[in-house]
Amino acid sequence: MPSAPHPSRFRLPADVRPTGYDLHLEPDLEGGAFRGEVRIALRLARPRAEIVLHAADLAIERATAHSAGREMSARVRLARADETAVLRFPRPLAAGEATLALRFGGRLNQHLRGLYTASADGSRYAFSQCEAADARRILPCFDEPAFKARFRVAVTVRDGETAVSNGPVEREEPVPGGRVVRFAETPPLSTYLLALAVGRLEASAPRHLGPVPIRVWHVPGKGQLTAFALEAAAEALARLQDYFDIPYPYRKLDLVAVPDFEAGAMENAGAVFFRETLLLLDPATASLAERKRAAEVIAHELAHMWYGDLVTMAWWDDLWLNEAFATWMAYRVVADWRPEWRMWQGFEHDRSAALGMDALANTHPIYARVRSVAEATENFDAITYEKGAAVVRMIEHYLGADTFRAGVRLYMRRHREGNTVAADLWRALEEASGKPVAHVAQTWIAQPGFPLVSIAPRDGGPAALGVRQERFFADPRVPAARRRGKWPVPLVVKWRGGGGAATGRFLVDKTRDRLDLPTSAAPAWYFGNADAGGFYRVAHDPADRAALLADLSTGLTPVERLALAGDQWALVRGGRAPIESFLDLADALGEETDYDVLDGIAGPLDLIDEQVAEPGSAVQAGFRAWIARRFGPQLERLQWAAAPGEDDPTRLRRAALVRLLGGVAEAPAVLAEARRRLDAYLADRSALEPNLADPVVALAARVGDEALYDRYRAAVAAAATPQERRRFLLGLGSFRTRAARERTLAAVLTPEIPTQDVAFLLMRLLANPAARGETWKFMTRKWAALRRRVPPLMISRLVEVTPALRDPGYARDVGRFFRTHPVPEARRAVKQALEVFRLNAELRRRTAPGLARWLGSRS
Ligand SMILES: [Zn+2]
Repeated sequence: MPSAPHPSRFRLPADVRPTGYDLHLEPDLEGGAFRGEVRIALRLARPRAEIVLHAADLAIERATAHSAGREMSARVRLARADETAVLRFPRPLAAGEATLALRFGGRLNQHLRGLYTASADGSRYAFSQCEAADARRILPCFDEPAFKARFRVAVTVRDGETAVSNGPVEREEPVPGGRVVRFAETPPLSTYLLALAVGRLEASAPRHLGPVPIRVWHVPGKGQLTAFALEAAAEALARLQDYFDIPYPYRKLDLVAVPDFEAGAMENAGAVFFRETLLLLDPATASLAERKRAAEVIAHELAHMWYGDLVTMAWWDDLWLNEAFATWMAYRVVADWRPEWRMWQGFEHDRSAALGMDALANTHPIYARVRSVAEATENFDAITYEKGAAVVRMIEHYLGADTFRAGVRLYMRRHREGNTVAADLWRALEEASGKPVAHVAQTWIAQPGFPLVSIAPRDGGPAALGVRQERFFADPRVPAARRRGKWPVPLVVKWRGGGGAATGRFLVDKTRDRLDLPTSAAPAWYFGNADAGGFYRVAHDPADRAALLADLSTGLTPVERLALAGDQWALVRGGRAPIESFLDLADALGEETDYDVLDGIAGPLDLIDEQVAEPGSAVQAGFRAWIARRFGPQLERLQWAAAPGEDDPTRLRRAALVRLLGGVAEAPAVLAEARRRLDAYLADRSALEPNLADPVVALAARVGDEALYDRYRAAVAAAATPQERRRFLLGLGSFRTRAARERTLAAVLTPEIPTQDVAFLLMRLLANPAARGETWKFMTRKWAALRRRVPPLMISRLVEVTPALRDPGYARDVGRFFRTHPVPEARRAVKQALEVFRLNAELRRRTAPGLARWLGSRS
């Protein structure tokens, strides 16, 4: 629980292993409690008088064991700090098979962990969330991923309620006032994959993929929003079966839309849980970003059915094996299903976010030693997911897609239903490829950070390049000695020669190296990260950068332009290039037509606006005016209404321009137009091109008054889809009037805002310049209540955005506050936030004069 979250470094002994759980649970949704009985089949390697297993927040009423034909009762001692129950028997249980029988009870909590309660439309539900280590809050169990066992689950439900678990329903037996739902036994599963959903849930009609029925479960009244998820799931499942060359390992696939959920989704075997926004949508009103994100998350969770559920990491230190692979696989699957969505181009935003975090001194390697579950929870971040996925992608490119897949198939076949460590994957990939995979991969997994690759022409041939690598830090003050670093970099270089663009692959394994492009003439330019496929930053020499700038729109693809801009901004942050070099590049992108590139440069431009320019200063006004001059004409040509038959890229470009001009530059005309369009949208949801809904709702709030605030509150309550609800709910955080700010803060900790949305709403408030100071004050004043309502994972996200507070005085405040109110799962996030505070102040001191000069030269 939040006050003492998983402090323990205790690991269960390996000589007692569970092989099966026979679990019967009886939840009382109205009473907020549950009772349960479990029989656990064990195998003991040696005789033991004491059995230790996990249990937290449970009362154990009775514990007996059956061993060697005898039944014995145990004395039960709960070790709260270790979250264990110690069962002491009068005589040792014999080596070999034994059975434990336990009777226990607990409360349905409100923290979205273990077995928790959630409500929707006045009805109560119970849902489980067990990863990383909360199955122990549902039943006494061996709650570590290596203890796989078969689960046979039964749930007693009241009349009108239904239950979903990992296995299909085998049979139902009536009991007074309800029935017992018995689920078929599962294949061996880790405890963190146990699933339970109980309440008045409804299911879609099944869609079949071969013998597998796929259904979407939801609270009543949302059946019309399930078609997209069913299609996305069927498309993903077919591709995954084909990729792994193993049929879907569970007998049915239930996708459950949970009205209050901590993560985005959870890969419970055979019963995947999602936030409603990621599963239930109306394709007619959802934006393309919302559809892409839902498809990606569905594919991610389904990839876990093999990679994670069927083959599972032995311990949390290899969590990245699960997450990096599933993240990469999801992009691959959806890119294949809907090529027009340009998934890998969109991945550049994720790669860029991971590079940003990994450039901090307070980053961590992908492979991190994990001693406690708190440390495991801390690792659910951009490094584990996005850097991990980028590294998997790099290895796939290095080996070739077919060879890589052959290695993955070998690994899956060999370890099916078992547990693995990273070395098992490297071994399979080496066997399939004959290449030194472990050497290349291990460096990327075990070393924190990433290389900055500097490239410049050198003597010795027209196409000879000198390459240098070192570790990149966002902090220019990091001493040279710490920057020494070496990775085996699979470098893919693109260049323009006489006959157009060409690419060449090199493995750069030394600190300094020489590459000879296979061409006889000097190239017009070269670009060091073709397709943005590698996890590194590139510094091109000045002459080359100038040549690239002159050939931006035809020489480089959108994802390469995006990578070039991201690299240049990183070089500015890291003190290796003047801010003018980035501004020149952004200026050259004024006619950019690709939406991802426009969205990509909006990030750095927003940071310049917020952190470099003084709020309300002439420089800030000048900067905003330059953005409006440079990018405004594009929006004027496009207009706000979509032309009939207009394609998605054009629609997305318009939305990106509205975000840039309204969100970053706060152009008055754009804000006013957003406000006008919002009225039409409130009256008729089809009045707005769906991709504009998000920016319009957020921007209109910035200039909205009390009356508009009331209409947002009403729109939240009456929303027809989860996406619309989320849009207006987060929109509440963008209002700037005093009364609106106060009302939103007053609502944050009431049941009106579901637990899952609290942190996101606070993040929106911290991004709101009119509200951020008082929001921070509110958070510190209400910390105890906040800790009870916001799950640890979300606390980290909240901490990450505190540098928006800007002033060094706040940095001291944030540091002091978390020293006196420590959050074990957010320890690294606090260090990172304080580092970003410092980096921003340093950036401001160093680049503000350059920004003013550059703007002066433009007006
Ligand atoms: Zn995952």
